[in-house]
Amino acid sequence: MSDVFSWRDAPPADYAVIGDPVAHSRSPRMHQAAYAALGLPYRYVAVHVPRGEVPEALDRLAALGYRGANVTVPHKEDALRWSEIREPYAEQARSANTIRFADRACRSTDGPGFMATIAGLPKDQGDVLMLGAGGSARALAISLVSAGIRLRIYNRTRARAEALASSLFGLATLVEEPDPAGAFLILNTTSASLTGEDLPIAWSRAEPFATAYDLSYGHEAPFLRRAAEASLATLDGLPLLVEQGALSFEWWTGQGAPRAAMRQAIQ
Ligand code: NDP
Repeated sequence: MSDVFSWRDAPPADYAVIGDPVAHSRSPRMHQAAYAALGLPYRYVAVHVPRGEVPEALDRLAALGYRGANVTVPHKEDALRWSEIREPYAEQARSANTIRFADRACRSTDGPGFMATIAGLPKDQGDVLMLGAGGSARALAISLVSAGIRLRIYNRTRARAEALASSLFGLATLVEEPDPAGAFLILNTTSASLTGEDLPIAWSRAEPFATAYDLSYGHEAPFLRRAAEASLATLDGLPLLVEQGALSFEWWTGQGAPRAAMRQAIQ
């Protein structure tokens, strides 16, 4: 675990991840490993920002000369609002996970990072069954339907899934049950794994070529355990963490990110 600073006591540094909580974040280790691999003199720190204090905190980091910041839960929407130059995808997702202070610009690298992690899957053999309708679900759903991938959405609270599906211009279907039949990807964007809760999936109906993908990482959760028991391929959130971080790094520095070093630092 890395040192965590309150935003009012943020030290002089170059990059930060802001969140609440933020102590668990592996981003400082990952980015610091990237700088070491390329001989860059930067420092990346974790900065705790309570809800409602994002504008002041980002102003403070800008004044201290920070070059950029990653943004994690629950601040991605506030970070978007703070920014003056917004990438259209971030605007549509109502989510910014990467800030560049020089021009107060923002991006979301979650969607493109996620699409890179599923590049090798058999997209022509089925659709995506997505569980959850929160902030990450929205960002990933936009990327999936933009790539022409058929999407079914299931959420515990139906109204939230309805709102998400209707914002996708009819390009996604709302479902009452998370039935994995016909899906090449069973995507868990819920926070159920954080609390070790199970999800009502009939794993025996999954296609043999399907991959079960959980956005969370570092948890021994039922979702991936049951998928593995059903002999499915599994993916956790670490490859996405690396890829979204690598894309942030590349936007900030203009250099190719040393993904292997970044991955090794957080495993
Ligand atoms: P949100 O709080 O915006 O949404 C949470 C979603 O999970 C809602 O749809 C909610 O349903 C659902 N949910 C929560 N608990 C349960 C449960 N016990 N059973 C069923 N559904 C549940 O969270 P985010 O979208 O921001 O994040 C979701 C997950 O993705 C987190 O685990 C986060 O750590 C992870 N993540 C990982 C990333 C990575 O780089 N690997 C990047 C981004 C996120 P309801 O509407 O009914 O409340």
